Amino acid sequence: STTPVTVTVTGAAGQIGYALLFRIASGAMLGPDTPVRLRLLEIPQAVKAAEGTAMELDDCAFPLLSGVDIYDSAEAAFDSVNVALLVGARPRGPGMERGDLLAANGGIFGPQGAAINKGAASDVRVLVVGNPANTNALIAASHAPDVPASRFTAMMRLDHNRALAQLAARAGVGVAAVSNVTIWGNHSAKQYPDIAHAVIGGRPAPSVIADDAWVADTFVPTVAKRGAAIIEARGASSAASAANAAIDHVRDWVLGTPEGSWTSVGLVSDGSYGVPEGLISGFPCVSRDGQWEIVQGLSVSESAQAGIDVSVGELVEERDAVRELGLI
Ligand code: NDP
Repeated sequence: STTPVTVTVTGAAGQIGYALLFRIASGAMLGPDTPVRLRLLEIPQAVKAAEGTAMELDDCAFPLLSGVDIYDSAEAAFDSVNVALLVGARPRGPGMERGDLLAANGGIFGPQGAAINKGAASDVRVLVVGNPANTNALIAASHAPDVPASRFTAMMRLDHNRALAQLAARAGVGVAAVSNVTIWGNHSAKQYPDIAHAVIGGRPAPSVIADDAWVADTFVPTVAKRGAAIIEARGASSAASAANAAIDHVRDWVLGTPEGSWTSVGLVSDGSYGVPEGLISGFPCVSRDGQWEIVQGLSVSESAQAGIDVSVGELVEERDAVRELGLI
């Protein structure tokens, strides 16, 4: 189609924003035939830096980029938005309690949800990247009563991609040979990466890996703590891989997941797999006709259920905390 899709990115002047915007503008997210109009939202102090990024976007002369606008008001930035990438968030400062962090993020994601409710296009799709992503998505969704809750998603895709890469390396195959891992629960160190139904080179992953101890003692913690390992090695948090995961998430949502494979999405629970209804939790999902659907009927072992329960328990705690703070 030739009508540009309006994509709003918050925290556009940040590290992830810098790794994300150029790929969106190049067509990596919505495909080579879809022009995009970018709207960058920043806090007032970062607007100048966002202007610099916009100058570089101009200088790329991307054929698909039909315009870039910069805002410091959520209402203006989300007017007519089709795809909203909520990247900017309040990082945990030294000595900051969880309640303070949730309250600070409530002050960001509540008003952004309200602005989306007020002005977004009817097909709006929202991906929350800024942490704590699942609960920030819950806050935004609860301020957007006129938008279906299933349009507010949280990013589990970076954990998912990390899991694919770890399995491929262990099995000595290319990453394209690995599919159908699931990251259940919260995007946090308590996530539950699950290979029970994963496939490596057409065979069940558990029998290819054939090492339960490696899965439990190396694979799961490596995936769950990968963010900290990147900070340790690079001296800065992962940005390009987070941006890449956001691109993958939206591309699959809009264009569909490949036949026969699923991905991991933070999606509002309908009660599937015992996850309390209304929580935004990681699930195995396919995208059909532009909508995420939770893959149903997977067997869940007792030990997997225990891992899911721990992570979902953290989501329940976060939800109860933001409820107590009056943020949802
Ligand atoms: P980044 O761009 O590196 O990160 C942004 C958010 O993404 C953080 O919450 C970060 O969480 C999260 N994130 C999710 N996955 C990852 C991952 N794998 N690796 C790293 N981060 C991940 O932060 P910057 O500080 O560079 O930039 C943030 C920008 O957001 C600033 O320019 C700030 O001005 C802006 N901002 C904008 C707001 C708005 O538009 N209203 C509101 C608040 C901030 P974590 O903290 O856990 O690393």
